[in-house]
Amino acid sequence: MTPPIPENVSPRRWRWIRLTTWHKEVRFLYWPPPRPTGYRNLRMFDRDGYDIGRLVWVVCDGCRVGRINKISIDPDCHR
Ligand SMILES: [Zn+2]
Repeated sequence: MTPPIPENVSPRRWRWIRLTTWHKEVRFLYWPPPRPTGYRNLRMFDRDGYDIGRLVWVVCDGCRVGRINKISIDPDCHR
């Protein structure tokens, strides 16, 4: 079974990403926030395209301090 296409990525773009990064152990996709103080999303996909990790953070517009809201890595990919 093929893994699902990440949300907000067109099938064509996902195919292109996978094609141009076939040699990478992990692919990183970044979703910028809709506004500067919004959530920033970084997701990690393995060679087969399975979602293996995520980092979500926000940066305060006033003082530029960042705060991690979520960080996770698939247990099979630890280390
Ligand atoms: Zn602040």
